[in-house]
Parts: sequence; structure tokens; C-alpha cells
Amino acid sequence: MILPIVAFGDPVLRKIGENIGPDYPKLAELIANMWETMYHAHGVGLAAPQVGKAINLFIIDTEAFENEDYPNEKKVFINAEILEENGERWEYEEGCLSIPHIRENVSRHAKLRIRYQNETFETIEEAYDGIAARVIQHEYDHCKGKLFVDHISQLKRRLLKNKLIAISKGAARVDYKMRIPATR
Ligand SMILES: [Zn+2]
Repeated sequence: MILPIVAFGDPVLRKIGENIGPDYPKLAELIANMWETMYHAHGVGLAAPQVGKAINLFIIDTEAFENEDYPNEKKVFINAEILEENGERWEYEEGCLSIPHIRENVSRHAKLRIRYQNETFETIEEAYDGIAARVIQHEYDHCKGKLFVDHISQLKRRLLKNKLIAISKGAARVDYKMRIPATR
């Protein structure tokens, strides 16, 4: 089932995602719905807060970037913890399904080490670099209540202010379902 994607301005995007156990209600169904929702919206990653669940869960599929340097990574990350970020910082223009039509350069470390649980709750520790590391950092941020626009300069943020307000009011035209924060 395709789920509505929460738009910028919804408080759930600012919550810290709680860790979950295998007994989390309808977890397999939630993950299946997240894949469907992500592919429908042509995303390369999706975090649970973006579908209204403040839990530490995100998915990535970097197939769109696949080439010799960047092999495809399609994975589910549960209870992820970034253990270390290192390597030179690099800028990359990021976007977000919760913040449509805005793209900004974000500087992040090139490499990371992460510990997480997969769908069968096996604990895995891995290192990533390149585009996969970038997507993981972006989605991991979501599970910490952080958005890519938090990483840009105050000035750029101020320039985006009206656009962000418009998104939170449902003004962004997208070809996927969005959940717009309740307006008072
Ligand atoms: Zn995002």
C-alpha cells in the first residue's frame, strides 16, 4: 500500500525515532509499504518518520546511481547507529520527498561505519562510502529528527523560508500522496 509522505512542518519529522524490537506491530507490512511508497515517489531512501512513524527505521535503494564506483545497495536499516564518520567532507546536492522541489548542497563526511539490525533482527556492522553513505546519512538524520535543510547556511535557509512554509501548507505539486501538517 502506498502511504502518504509527511510534508515539511509536521512535528513527526522532528521526533527522535525510537528503537524497535521484532514484536513491533505489523513491521513486515510497514517495511513492504515503505518500499512501495519510496519507489512510487522515485526516491532512493525513505525513513519511517516520513510515513508518520517516529521509529528508528529506514530503507535505501541506490540503484539509480549504480555504476562501477557505486554498486547498488538495497537495504533495510533498523535501530541504526552510526559509529563513526570519517574521510574528507564533500558536497552533494540533496533533495527530500518531504521537502519537494528544493535541492541544496550539503557537506558530509565521505565514509561511515554503521551498526544496525536487518529485517530478521540480525545485528550487522558495515562500512559505507560514496553515494550509499550519503543516502544513509540523510535517512539516518530523519530518524534523529533532522532534515537536510538543517545543514545549510543560515542565509540559504532564510532564502528558503517562504518555500518551506508553502510546502508545510500543501502548496507543493507532486505526483505522490502527501500528508500536510494540520493547519490551525
Ligand atoms: Zn529526506
